[in-house]
This record gives sequence, structure tokens and C-alpha cells, in this order.
Amino acid sequence: MSKPKLIFSETHAVKKLLRGLKLNTVCEESHCPNISECFGAKTATFMILGDVCTRGCTFCNVSKGKPGYLDQEEPYRLLDAVKKLGLKYVVITSVTRDDLPDGGAEQFARCIRVLKDHLKDVKVEVLVPDFKGSVRALERVLSEGPDVLNHNIETVPRLYSKVRKGANYSRSLHILKKAKELSPSIFTKSAIILGFGEKKEEVISVMRDLREVHCDFLTIGQYYQPSLNHHPVVKYYTREEFEELRHIALSLGFRYVASGPNVRSSYRAFEAIGE
Ligand code: SF4
Ligand code: SF4
Repeated sequence: MSKPKLIFSETHAVKKLLRGLKLNTVCEESHCPNISECFGAKTATFMILGDVCTRGCTFCNVSKGKPGYLDQEEPYRLLDAVKKLGLKYVVITSVTRDDLPDGGAEQFARCIRVLKDHLKDVKVEVLVPDFKGSVRALERVLSEGPDVLNHNIETVPRLYSKVRKGANYSRSLHILKKAKELSPSIFTKSAIILGFGEKKEEVISVMRDLREVHCDFLTIGQYYQPSLNHHPVVKYYTREEFEELRHIALSLGFRYVASGPNVRSSYRAFEAIGE
């Protein structure tokens, strides 16, 4: 009698593939609510430079502490996964690596280069940390021609000290501004998470600041508390409120806005550039 065939769902197949290639995804690390949909559609957001962050954002589920060694083979394993999953649009992000002199910019650059060299039609979105404001690091990433440069502003400036310790609102805006100045042809993108105690006027003010630096795309989503040790949810927004904010953002000039409770920075990321 032949052995019964083990049938894995697409989600399990993607998880297995990622384990085998020792690749991290923000999808799993952040307990993203869209994981079944995205893995089911064979899409994922790859998290390079390890799975331990040197920052301590109070909403984030990624492990914090001292990161491990820099894995030189990572870009090739990423390529392998992208080929096996048949991805045409790849989102790459990372933990923040304040311990590295370039903040990990070279690894981002190598990942983009390897993908672009081997897969002619692939589009690459990089969701970068703030590189402590280093324009040199940003330049290195942009030099390899990503299609979208994403940097999340996350919340309103008043809440940075509570939510995003180690980051700086002006510095994050500056990264987006410089990206557009250095590479005017690429799209820039950012994300706001709601539910930390921000006020509507503050959110609109952040949108205005993002448009001031010519940010093209915006995503707006609801914060869900990963554990009792994380920042509490101060407010759950209704679908109508998300829709209203989407309209306001579009009226301010963003080319594309995704807004909804489960929207994450990388959710259906390919849509913004019409892929
Ligand atoms: Fe999480 Fe990014 Fe903050 Fe690190 S910098 S704790 S990965 S949100
Ligand atoms: Fe991953 Fe982004 Fe999809 Fe969440 S929305 S599962 S982080 S690709």
C-alpha cells in the first residue's frame, strides 16, 4: 500500500520553506493578522539582518537585545526563497542594527543587487530603519535601485518617547525627504499605526508632514497588543474612521493609501505600483 500523501496548506508550505532557508519574516515575528492570506498567496515580508533588534519599540513583538553575526549568505538564501515562491514583488525589511557602523545598509544593498541581477522583472521594496539618520547609509541602499523606499513613521511625534524609544520623528521624516532628493524616480512610502492614544488632528498633521517630504504611498492600520507587556491599545478605530482617514490622505496628495484595521506596511504592497 502506498503511503498517504501529506497535504500541507500553502501557509505551512511557506513556513517550511522559510525554516529550511533560515529566513525570518516580519509576518511571523510580528504575529501579523494577515499571515494566512499572505502566505496563502505565497507572499511574505523578509526580515534580514537577524531577528534581534537593538531598539525597544513598546508595540513591537520582535526580540530585543544583542544581535548575532552578520550572515553573508543571506542575500542568496533570499534569492532562493523568492525563486521558489515565484515572487514578482519582494518586500525586504530588517530589525534596527544600531550595532553596525552602517546600520545594515550594505546588506540591504546586496540583497537588492542579488535579486535584480538574477530576476530581471522583480520589483523590490525596502522597508528600512532610520540608519540613525545616516544619509551615506541611505545612499548605499538607493544605489542598487530599489523600486520603493519605505520607512515607517509609525506614530505622532508626541508619542515617540512612549512608543518608539530611540527613534526621532524629524530624523524619520528626513530619511524620506533625502530618499526622494537622492532618487527622485523611486516611490517613497510610510505607515502610521493607530491605537496608541493619538488624536485625529495629530494624525492629519503627520500626513501633512509626510506630504511635505513628497511621500507617495501611505498605509494606516490598527495596533493590536501582542502581549500584556506591550503598550496598551488606547483605541480601536472603526472601519468608517479608517475610510475617513484614507479619504483625507488622498485629498492631501498621496498617490496610494491603504487604510483599515488589518492593513500593515507590506499588506498587498504590490498594489501601490500597479503590479
Ligand atoms: Fe520592532 Fe522595528 Fe522598533 Fe526594532 S525598530 S523594535 S524591529 S519596530
Ligand atoms: Fe507579512 Fe506584510 Fe502580509 Fe503581514 S501584511 S503577513 S507582514 S506580507
